[in-house]
Amino acid sequence: MTTDRIEALRSRLDGVDTELVRLIARRFDLVGEIGRAKERSASTIQDAERERRVLEAVEGTARQLGVSANLVRRVFQEIISHAVSQQSAQLAGDDTGRVRLAFQGVEHSTGHLAAQKFVAGRGLEAHLVGHPTFRAAVAALLADEAELAVVPIENTSAGSITEVYALLREQAVFIVGEETWKVDHCLAAPDMVPLASLGRILAQPQALEQCAQFLQTLPQVATTTYMDSAEAMRAVATAGDAGVAAIGPPEAAAANRLAILRHGISDSDADYTRFVVLSRSPVAVDPRIPCKTSLILVTRHEEGALLRCLEILSGSGHSMTKLESRPRPGKPWEYMFFLDFEGNVAEPRTAAALDELRSSAPYIKVLGSYPAKALREHPQPGQLPGARPDESAAETLEAVVVTESPPARRSKHRLVDRASRSEDTVVQAGGLLIGGAGFAVMAGPCSVESAEQIGDTARFVRDQGAHVLRGGVFKPRTSPYAFQGLGWSGLELLVAAGRETGLPIITEVMAVEQVQRLAQAADILQVGARNMQNFDLLRELGKVDRPVLLKRGLSSTIDEWLGAAEYVLAHGNQQVILCERGIRTFESATRNTLDLSAVVVLRERTHLPVIVDPSHGTGYRPYVAPMAWAARAVGAHGLLIEVHPAPQQALSDADQSLSFAEFGALMRHLATVPTVPSV
Ligand code: PEP
Ligand code: MN
Repeated sequence: MTTDRIEALRSRLDGVDTELVRLIARRFDLVGEIGRAKERSASTIQDAERERRVLEAVEGTARQLGVSANLVRRVFQEIISHAVSQQSAQLAGDDTGRVRLAFQGVEHSTGHLAAQKFVAGRGLEAHLVGHPTFRAAVAALLADEAELAVVPIENTSAGSITEVYALLREQAVFIVGEETWKVDHCLAAPDMVPLASLGRILAQPQALEQCAQFLQTLPQVATTTYMDSAEAMRAVATAGDAGVAAIGPPEAAAANRLAILRHGISDSDADYTRFVVLSRSPVAVDPRIPCKTSLILVTRHEEGALLRCLEILSGSGHSMTKLESRPRPGKPWEYMFFLDFEGNVAEPRTAAALDELRSSAPYIKVLGSYPAKALREHPQPGQLPGARPDESAAETLEAVVVTESPPARRSKHRLVDRASRSEDTVVQAGGLLIGGAGFAVMAGPCSVESAEQIGDTARFVRDQGAHVLRGGVFKPRTSPYAFQGLGWSGLELLVAAGRETGLPIITEVMAVEQVQRLAQAADILQVGARNMQNFDLLRELGKVDRPVLLKRGLSSTIDEWLGAAEYVLAHGNQQVILCERGIRTFESATRNTLDLSAVVVLRERTHLPVIVDPSHGTGYRPYVAPMAWAARAVGAHGLLIEVHPAPQQALSDADQSLSFAEFGALMRHLATVPTVPSV
């Protein structure tokens, strides 16, 4: 009787358990839908708040029902944590949840096989499309023809794949995963024939290298190279010649119905290729999953700079898994570094280390944090990132697709703050150092007008000791009918004048679309007063490895100005120079009121260099030189001065442009101006 009753109760219990699992499954379905909706809206979501509310609500229900709130909280934390992995794994897909994935190669090539392995491991449904080159695969991703691209980045015998590193540097792509693939070559032919009867072998050049020892045992064989192992296999199958075989993966042999004459013919039996999985935006990964983070880092061009950066990582308990150096474009004999280390930007410890790196390196691009494949396959006790489940980890659990790394600390403008870096930042433009103990004079016309005008001015200001040549080619003018600048043709004239005189050049960037092209040509990119709070522009400038001169907005406070500089630093580029150029006040005797006290305030509050533009600051030729001297006296790191061969005829800012004679006089006296003791 009692046993029957227990049995009946047990069976009801089983029913409840089944129902519980069903409900969990329903919750996951909904989470999946939310994940897809989030991806479509591409919005950054505030999830910590949402999660707190979910946990509070279920705890409340638990209390009402007399169940332990603590138990329910723990159960739900587990469920939510799983939801995150599910959403992360889901990544972006189309309406049916299918991910479109681009790879390089044909069907059954290594790229294809690695991509298949990746999608299988993540439980993804995917539509895989092959492309002829790595660049084409990445282009498909950027053109929104795919959500993911899988490209090889290194091979344990052949080393790094430089073209992929170039793509990571140039393109707006992020790493969201990695995959490893064991290189396993076989020799396959249409029929099972003795090796001695083979006359020709088709293979990829790398495959021939990787099987060199085996090939030495077949001296009678000639080789033909193919772009792709899978293509070599297909060619052998199509030709159907018994004397011709191909080297490639066994999967490709099977797909082409070839007979495998010999397995495992690589010289090394431990040859792996590592692939990275790219996306258009980074993903946030649950801090409890062992992660790697990849960075592009430009170090200061000085002794020990790289070592200092590496010490920041090791000092904060991050072990490095890869360091690759590549030439820095446009900077002969300078290098940029690609760095992989164990860590996750979602962890405060890693976010803090990145902040510290930012204050030591002129440029950083965080390529992303992603589940570490190699770590999961070969776990090393005690070496996994120390992220244990805790309250703060739980708070980030439902964050899925975010466009920026979550901040670690909340202090305002923390990167520009003097507290983050006690030494002055010294910005390098061409061969010139701006900031610290030096004093840099940037001079030239308001606008580039002709080859002769910019050439004459460049030679003159150089001979008077100026360090940088200025010239606007895109002009922000109050009236649409006023001269708007010569545009790209003006840039060519400025570049030529800079080259001829050996002066680095500075010019204004007005729009997001101009950033990349101007950054290729100019040594410093000027952000005008009217664009100081153009946040899209600031974000874009944060992504380039070029110094930025950020002018103060017409009616901006110092705090707002520092906030604008913080945008650039927060997006990677640490090379910002601030330029005081006068602000709007009730005073009308001068074009603007040059706020020289800003120099003193900024020297105290930030480590960034501060220069002064007395031309726009006063708007009137006779006032320029005295205010320039005053700027030097209060401790500015330099000046920006408008100079024109015939100021009265200048197409912009005629009233404030100095003649050659006036600029010469300014420079002569400048050298004698005493400066304040360091502030
Ligand atoms: C300039 O330097 O020519 C210029 C347009 O300056 P601002 O943005 O300070 O007005
Ligand atoms: Mn001007």
